[in-house]
Formats: sequence, structure tokens, C-alpha cells
Amino acid sequence: MATSKEMTLDDLFLDTLKDIYYAEKQIVKALPKMAKAAQDPALKAGFEKHMDETQGHIDRLEQVFDIIGKPARGKTCDAILGILEEGKSIMDEFKGTVALDAGLIAAGQAVEHYEMARYGTLRTWATRLGYADAAKLFETTLLEERATDQALTQLAEAGGDNAKAA
Ligand code: FE
Ligand code: FE
Repeated sequence: MATSKEMTLDDLFLDTLKDIYYAEKQIVKALPKMAKAAQDPALKAGFEKHMDETQGHIDRLEQVFDIIGKPARGKTCDAILGILEEGKSIMDEFKGTVALDAGLIAAGQAVEHYEMARYGTLRTWATRLGYADAAKLFETTLLEERATDQALTQLAEAGGDNAKAA
């Protein structure tokens, strides 16, 4: 184990890669539950579509582990556990109410924003460290996370979440 003074950007890169790998594996398990809970068919379809994309994110991360010659391994990410726990609370507390879908959209957007922060950072570091192919993989995923976030914003603005019907 390196002492703290010997830790490099490569170490931080690997650490962050393990963090998002763990997070994506939690997200892919949470999305079916969010899709099931959603009342608006468009929101349900959106979560289901992103579930498939998320499996692709996991595949891309495994490609990055391959590029840097490290085994694909996750590291517990307390941030995503907290974000998903909040989402679960919303599903429980607002079950059967007109505000449920609005809450699900908000929970989904919190997840996407966490991912966007991580992928943006990883893309920048990959470029600095000379992993151009990894940077491209992060960029591809980042665009999908951003598109998902924007689709959720549109659903919220369209009011398909039904929250105004109260
Ligand atoms: Fe993702
Ligand atoms: Fe995502």
C-alpha cells in the first residue's frame, strides 16, 4: 500500500472508477423498481429505456478497467446509496398519491446528476492520463446520462407526473 505522499492521479482515477462501477450496479437494480412505481406510461418507459442503457454503462466501465489493465471491481459508494435511499423513501411516502411521479422524477434526476459529475471528472482525468479510448467511453456515457436528465425535465414540465391534478 502506497503512503499518502505516493498516491497519484492514477490512483485517484482507479478509485473513482471503482466508485462509479459500484454506483452503476446499484442503479441498474433500482431502475426496475422505479419503473414499476411510475404511474405515467412515458415515465415508466423512460426508466425502462435507461435501465438498458445502464447495462451498457457497466459494460463500458469494464472496458475501461481492461484498458488500464486492472480487474473490474467496485468500491462502496455512500453517495449513491444515500441518493437511492432517498428515492426509496419517496416511493414509500408518496405511494398512491398524485405527487408520486414528480417525486420519482426528482429522485431520478438526483441519480443522473451524480453520474454526470463522476463521468465528467473521469473523462477529464482519462484525457490527462493519456487514456484517450477511455475518455471516449466516458463521453459516450455522459451524453446518455445528460439526455436522460433532460428527458426527465421535459416530463416534469409537461406535467405528465400528474402532481398538478391535486
Ligand atoms: Fe449510468
Ligand atoms: Fe444514468
